[in-house]
Amino acid sequence: MTWVITSLCQDKVDMACVEVCPVDCIVKRTDDSPDWPNQLYIDPDECISCGVCEPECPWEAIFEDEQVPEIFSENIALNAKIVDERDDFEVPEKPDDGDMPSPADVEANKEKWGFTG
Ligand code: SF4
Ligand code: SF4
Repeated sequence: MTWVITSLCQDKVDMACVEVCPVDCIVKRTDDSPDWPNQLYIDPDECISCGVCEPECPWEAIFEDEQVPEIFSENIALNAKIVDERDDFEVPEKPDDGDMPSPADVEANKEKWGFTG
């Protein structure tokens, strides 16, 4: 079992989850490869499934693998795929605190991805 970061993180990347992960398995691509959306990923080989990251995510982008909504199911494989290119990912530094999204912002982001849950 692992946890998965979904597309709801894409272009948000505020890194709120990074600080709380006890095993530093939340990572970011180190280059701008077009094959990889601009979001964070969880290394499934290192995640200890503690669940601490989930409530920290202001965009509600993190799910246990068995609970990932169907519309984001491809994100499970995308997170897992980082294992094959692990040297191209690293634990990012958290920038200075930015603005927290409003509930309306969070809902608008979900709607953008067609997620109604
Ligand atoms: S579930 Fe725990 S170990 Fe896994 S990514 Fe989240 S904080 Fe890290
Ligand atoms: S807290 Fe959520 S939105 Fe922010 S970087 Fe982590 S997964 Fe992405």
